[in-house]
Amino acid sequence: MEKLSDRDKKHLWHPLTQHKTHPEMLGISKAKGAVLFDENDKEYIDGIASWYTCMYGHCHPYILEKVRAQMLRLDQVVFSGFTHEPAVKLSEELIKILPENQEKLFFSDNGSTSTEIGIKMALQYHFNQGEKRNVLLAFEEGFHGDTFGSMSVSGLSVYNGPFEDFFISVERIPVPTEKNIREVLTNLKERLKQEDIAGFIYEPLVQGAAAMKMHDANGLNQILALLKEDDVLTIADEVMTGFGKTGKYFASDHIQTKPDIMCLSKALTAGLVPMGLTTCTEKVYQAFYSDDISKGLFHGHTYTANPLACAAALSAVELLQTEGIQDNIQNIIKWHQEFDAKIKNHTKVAATRQLGVIYALDLNVKMERYGNLRDKLFNHFMENGVFLRPLGNTIYILAPFVTSQEQMEKIYSTIQSALDIV
Ligand SMILES: *Cc1c(COP(=O)(O)O)cnc(C)c1O
Repeated sequence: MEKLSDRDKKHLWHPLTQHKTHPEMLGISKAKGAVLFDENDKEYIDGIASWYTCMYGHCHPYILEKVRAQMLRLDQVVFSGFTHEPAVKLSEELIKILPENQEKLFFSDNGSTSTEIGIKMALQYHFNQGEKRNVLLAFEEGFHGDTFGSMSVSGLSVYNGPFEDFFISVERIPVPTEKNIREVLTNLKERLKQEDIAGFIYEPLVQGAAAMKMHDANGLNQILALLKEDDVLTIADEVMTGFGKTGKYFASDHIQTKPDIMCLSKALTAGLVPMGLTTCTEKVYQAFYSDDISKGLFHGHTYTANPLACAAALSAVELLQTEGIQDNIQNIIKWHQEFDAKIKNHTKVAATRQLGVIYALDLNVKMERYGNLRDKLFNHFMENGVFLRPLGNTIYILAPFVTSQEQMEKIYSTIQSALDIV
């Protein structure tokens, strides 16, 4: 049998990949819990939960059972003019754990569409009220996705050259620190006088693609409170931070000022199928609620609120609230802290940070985002049966909640041995 990686080369084009320089793709044949198996049956602990999706572990039996049952009853139906139990039930259950001001749920297919819709909601919110506000505010080094609107508001734009001329209008502010917060607020106050800013999109507390860069909750809270005074809609992109990863259900739960709009995906469906959600407050919804049809939000995707995806999300939300998963989260938080105490003074470690089950360490070496040393680290992890994806000189862990202590120890010891090769 020809290897998957060889067959792959003939017709497949992979994401975020320069195929001329990239080594061949690794064939993955199955996954269970926190473990991926390649086509030779070699095991890898999924230290990043397959981009923070499979937080309850791969192929979770409870989720599979629920989705299977749903599949036998209703597979797909148009969500314009129709509704169904999985979507209704999911809305009822999610509203219970979302920040208390969130009232309405708008479905889409992935993280980028969830932020794209958040941006459109913010722009149309003002438009519907006869106000011309066409600038968006975003954090430097943010990441919100790869479609045009979400790409425009993302600050990590090294590969965006061909598209920049077509971006929507965005201005960036630095993430808050204790040192810069006064200046950030002063500048913002001045800037708000022009009354042209429609919304502010931000990854609350942790910027995932910026290598798990973390910022100050108090500073963020002050920025949000100031923007709210001027009716700038605040859009929390919790595609990465949502669903327990920060130690609370949502990163916004750590911050006093709640967002007007929230974007969810990734762990929303526990990694089983894609889905995105944009949620908002009653105030936002009311700006679209009118006898005038054109004031509605005319955005839709064919697979909007797919019943199977809703069933997966519903079982994930149930699991998240179980004592078992909540205990797992607390355990991982503690193990990370113990590991951190051991590693943070290592000469090769420049800095470490943690929020909930998200742990990151910066190496004390200069590195390119996708350079040689990064590949060397990646290969070291994979040879040792650990799947981690270093970003620049940052190694981060965001393993499934169900990762055992033994598996987590293996991740830690492999990181420790990696320090010897840098
Ligand atoms: C992954 C991610 C996105 C994009 O989601 P996709 O499903 O990959 O389109 C947007 N925002 C954040 C914070 C993310 O981590």
